Amino acid sequence: MDRSTSPASRRQFLRRAGLGTALAAVVGPAAAFPLSSTEPAMQHADQKKIGFAIVGLGKFATEQMMPAFKETRHARIVALVSGSPDKAARLAREYDVEARNIYTYQNFDTIRDNPEVDVVYVVLPPALHAEYTERAARAGKHVLSEKPMAPTVAECQRMIAACQQAGKKLMIAYRAQYEPFNLEAIARIRRGELGKLLQITADHGRIVDPVGDKADTWRVVRKMAGGGSLMDIGIYSLNAARYLTGEEPTEVTAQEMTDKSDPRFKEVEDRIHFTLRFPGGTLATCTSAYSIQQVKRFRAFGSQAWLDLDPATDYDRHRMTIGDKDGQHEPPLKEGNQFAAELDHMAECVLQNKTPKTPGEEGLRDIRLIQAIYEAARTGKAVKV
Ligand code: NDP
Repeated sequence: MDRSTSPASRRQFLRRAGLGTALAAVVGPAAAFPLSSTEPAMQHADQKKIGFAIVGLGKFATEQMMPAFKETRHARIVALVSGSPDKAARLAREYDVEARNIYTYQNFDTIRDNPEVDVVYVVLPPALHAEYTERAARAGKHVLSEKPMAPTVAECQRMIAACQQAGKKLMIAYRAQYEPFNLEAIARIRRGELGKLLQITADHGRIVDPVGDKADTWRVVRKMAGGGSLMDIGIYSLNAARYLTGEEPTEVTAQEMTDKSDPRFKEVEDRIHFTLRFPGGTLATCTSAYSIQQVKRFRAFGSQAWLDLDPATDYDRHRMTIGDKDGQHEPPLKEGNQFAAELDHMAECVLQNKTPKTPGEEGLRDIRLIQAIYEAARTGKAVKV
């Protein structure tokens, strides 16, 4: 079992919820972050909470994101959108959602008449992100969309245009950019604690199992997923290389290795290795795979020290190690609820009319790069971006 989703680890995670100082330092000083374990949500009952409609009640929505609303200051679930009426009714009872606020994909557009819904959170397979973002924007709602933003650059551009035309916010759910250990890593690199940043390695892997785990069924279908491991989890390696350097790469190279006789990989890629060349002199070497056991780590090598997060992009139990001329040490950092921080950031952007830290343009940049990585793998040539 994936330890990050086991009930025991989830309980542990909730107990430990709370945030390190790095989070406030990087995202901003406003009180848009989850409560510490000693500060119950009730204390904030008087504050305005932004109403979210959850679209797609799958594994990630129900096991990670919906429980995290209990730890938000400014966000609450007010509506559910699902193709599974029984599941929707059960979750509505669990989360105190009025029965009249349960929608289907067919009557979703009538959400425009529901003033309780401020934000539509799209947690559908990637090929459906563009359609539901556009429909939500037309219904006059702000949008939080899961990653990857959409399979193609054109769809990402349509999502951005739809939200712009409607005058609504669009945020992509890059949870790692709201996670304290990642924010601490960024802060340390920006402060120059590693010296000059020279090299990054980032690896993401999991076993994709379309038979044993229903959440994986669409992951091996190209028209739903848009691609294979790179779109789904390699994107974490890519996004990390970009936020650790704070730069955009200028050139990519890539190699793919997929066993096409494996029925899981008839349509999508398994293993892909890629390099990113950054203008400041950093070279990132990234991997992504659907056929190796859980790995979610990165290491940043500077001229004076290295910083390792392993895991780096898990749901909890992150671990930072620093190595320098004096040896290795693990700075004492506190876990925080990245999901609640992300939701509160979205809510705060609506409340304060701010642009999200991870807007549509951020998602579009990754999709452009993913397409360049696929091209490099296909042609065997370096691709300038
Ligand atoms: P699941 O398959 O578990 O859930 C997807 C849900 O979408 C389904 O349960 C279903 O909900 C709805 N749905 C509607 N149409 C379809 C369709 N044609 N095929 C399949 N599902 C459909 O997937 P995940 O929860 O793992 O992933 C959902 C999204 O979240 C993806 O974009 C994924 O990339 C992202 N994700 C993000 C993570 C992160 O860490 N940020 C981690 C995991 C996933 P219903 O029955 O209610 O209609």
